[in-house]
Amino acid sequence: MTPLVLQNTLSRQKEEFMPADGKVVRLYCCGPTVYNYAHIGNLRTYIFEDLLHRTLTLHGWGVDHVMNITDVGHMTSDSDSGEDKMQKAAQREQKSPWELARFYEDAFFVDCARLNIIKPNVAPRATEHVAGMIALIQRLEAEGYTYETDEGIYFDTARNTDYGKLAGLNLAAQMAGAREDVNIDVGKKHPADFILWFTNKPTHIMKWPSPWGEGYPGWHIECSAMAMEYLGETLDIHCGGIDHIPVHNTNEIAQSECATGHPFARFWVHGAFLNVVSPHAEASGGKMSKSGENFLTVQRLIDRGYDPLAYRYLCLTAHYRSELAFNVETWESLNAATKALGKIYELKSRIGENDDLSEEEYARARQTVFDAISDDLNLPRAVAALHEAKSYRLWREFDSVLGLDIESRSRAAVATPADADDLPAEIVTLKQQRDDARKSKDFPRSDALRAEIEAFGYTVGDSPTGTVVKKNLL
Ligand SMILES: [Zn+2]
Repeated sequence: MTPLVLQNTLSRQKEEFMPADGKVVRLYCCGPTVYNYAHIGNLRTYIFEDLLHRTLTLHGWGVDHVMNITDVGHMTSDSDSGEDKMQKAAQREQKSPWELARFYEDAFFVDCARLNIIKPNVAPRATEHVAGMIALIQRLEAEGYTYETDEGIYFDTARNTDYGKLAGLNLAAQMAGAREDVNIDVGKKHPADFILWFTNKPTHIMKWPSPWGEGYPGWHIECSAMAMEYLGETLDIHCGGIDHIPVHNTNEIAQSECATGHPFARFWVHGAFLNVVSPHAEASGGKMSKSGENFLTVQRLIDRGYDPLAYRYLCLTAHYRSELAFNVETWESLNAATKALGKIYELKSRIGENDDLSEEEYARARQTVFDAISDDLNLPRAVAALHEAKSYRLWREFDSVLGLDIESRSRAAVATPADADDLPAEIVTLKQQRDDARKSKDFPRSDALRAEIEAFGYTVGDSPTGTVVKKNLL
């Protein structure tokens, strides 16, 4: 069997992967901070992690998949400044931080289910694991890796000789530029030092007693404590978005390895961004933010008539380490994904179980797809090979990884609604003109063209791919 190869951020190269015990993969993924709906850019990371989980299963291993829920301690800046995201959002929505957390946690899992993301085996909440975090900080304190300021307990990065190895950071260079760093004012010895436990936050609602006074944990310690509690001191794979490399994951490594003396994770695997582009908007490009109209949720896709699985399919068409561009003016990538997905679902009615492939050809195509998936999850190559094979059986077989609901969505040969191919030329022309009018947002003209088409005895509807026209039956 072709081995599974993964790009390890730690070594900056592809390495052959096997779980340490040869049987069950201990997989940890940084989970959501539950203060708002997840945007589809965040969800791209969870789709990538789901593809990894399913690929590990394809290779015959069990997967012990843990993903935390951050419901306290993640500040508005990923380094420790600003306000707690939970507390800020709770004030905005006039809810308690606990109510807010449960609400958005539920919403997150609803979105995941709509995208066929397999639920992790355990999704521990930070607020329910504070004791483990305190114990871990005490371990660091006993080894001399911490110091106290007016803000709380900090991790002393200067004591960690290989600090920053994941991102290739240079502490001395950071120190040189530190004068402009506002964080140094709060009593930090080095700008890279990070908080383990906040004290002295009298207005903070979520607080716990600790050896250092009432307070709450920093975001980074949460992941280390929960990962080790459920998966042991050395994980097989730790995943996250690439934005987590320089601060969050780097700090997880520092505090975990200083506490235990073992490597924290054997493999670090990171997913790239969804890059939302809006060519005519002033602020175009960049990472999708939680504010502004580029904030796309799964619900917004549904409201616009898209199948959430079309978004999942779109994510399969780009390698997880490549940026995926999403044009929010034309929505063209999602329109194309919708079309391609429809073609897959139609395969059953078009060719059924008996494709043209001989046993040998089927086996060869199967191997090509398997090899592509095993090569650092090269799903774009796998999907291309599947399209080329034109085999419903093969798509169905690999749907255990793709997660596109191919069996349940595919229809056996039934009458399909009339599409453009069956329409008279004059209707096709009017339909095209209406699509153009809608594209240029000329709605009065689009309405006039709708009326014109209807006058010929057709029903006119809208779909993500444009105007849909059906002949009236009566
Ligand atoms: Zn994390």
